[in-house]
Amino acid sequence: MKIAIKTKRLISPLQEIKDAVILINGELIEAVGEQKNIEIPADYQVRDVGNKIVAPGLVDIHNHGANGYFAREGEEAVQEISKWLAKTGTTCWLATIGDAEGVKGGVQAIKNGTEGCYVPGIRCEGPFLYPKYLPGESASPPPYADEKIFMEMFEAGEGYIKIMDCSPDLPGGMEMFRTIKKHGIITSFAHGNADYDLFMKAVDTGISLVTHTYNVMSGMHHRKPGAVGGALTCDDLICELNADGVHVHPVAMDVLIRCKGLDRVCLVSDMQAMAGLPDGEYDWTGRIIDGEYEWTGVKLIKENGTVRNAGVALDQEGAISSSVWPIKQGIYNLVNKVGLSLKDAFRLGSLNPAIAARLDHELGSLRPGKRADLIVIDDEVNLFMTMVGGRILHETDVIAELSY
Ligand SMILES: [Zn+2]
Repeated sequence: MKIAIKTKRLISPLQEIKDAVILINGELIEAVGEQKNIEIPADYQVRDVGNKIVAPGLVDIHNHGANGYFAREGEEAVQEISKWLAKTGTTCWLATIGDAEGVKGGVQAIKNGTEGCYVPGIRCEGPFLYPKYLPGESASPPPYADEKIFMEMFEAGEGYIKIMDCSPDLPGGMEMFRTIKKHGIITSFAHGNADYDLFMKAVDTGISLVTHTYNVMSGMHHRKPGAVGGALTCDDLICELNADGVHVHPVAMDVLIRCKGLDRVCLVSDMQAMAGLPDGEYDWTGRIIDGEYEWTGVKLIKENGTVRNAGVALDQEGAISSSVWPIKQGIYNLVNKVGLSLKDAFRLGSLNPAIAARLDHELGSLRPGKRADLIVIDDEVNLFMTMVGGRILHETDVIAELSY
């Protein structure tokens, strides 16, 4: 399909272009610029979205699931999550899976291609994570970060694993960072009790990323800077940020962005199966517990935009589970709660995650030669259209009527 989209405002996101046009030829962007500089060829379908904003599709490099599915459940789950994500403005995601069997299903989905948003690879947050010990849970000792387990994951991944997480305080954890990196996979510091010194030792192994900065890591005290102090000050690292408005206070988001600059923070959703489902009680797999379905294990409660373990107070350390908000909500929060411009917020939600996952050669910004992954929104970040690889996957009536 050849399509030209005209808009009063386009965010690239490094540039903001007024009275812009973007030409899309098949899967790729052919040209982007001011309407007065770009001639629209006669065989292009034209859409003028007027005051609506054309922006890059959102890139989610840390996402466990949505709409009742966990990515680890296999190919169908990855397909369904991809379709749902397109309705939220996310155009690319890394299926986040923590076991070799699940990775095989993810690889299958990638090879067969998805109908929804683009899945270029897999993220492994797990199995090399220091366990979270919630109050009342029996504390099993942290597992050994075993190279044999890594090799099972690596072989199951068939070259599609882009990022792997590890906790340096696991026995064997520090060596695992080196093993992961040696196999060409991006390493990310995640979970656990590492202090500042151990954090910096992990940096010395060549890690590139900090997983959901502030969450599940040692905080910053002025005499004990903790992993957070390391993350804020080590310029080599890109820091993930869950900006759903629940996991990190807006002031802490602001501190992170001031310390790292606009190029070293990337939004992640850390979403899971309960995203998109109604409030209620769920089991660990994302199945709702109702009158017909009895469940005696640990229950999760979805309520007011959060998921937490039943019986644990929301303000208790470690109480909130992964998120239920797509990246789009993070963009809204950065603008409305932190005070970033929409253009800068998009940098954190599209280009920076693409850079963090080394995908920026093909996506993450609206530039000629890149994938035609874009969205149409308004000032309030309401979504009107999602395009993935030149295909319109989601659009509201308001936009559909504008083509000519
Ligand atoms: Zn995590």
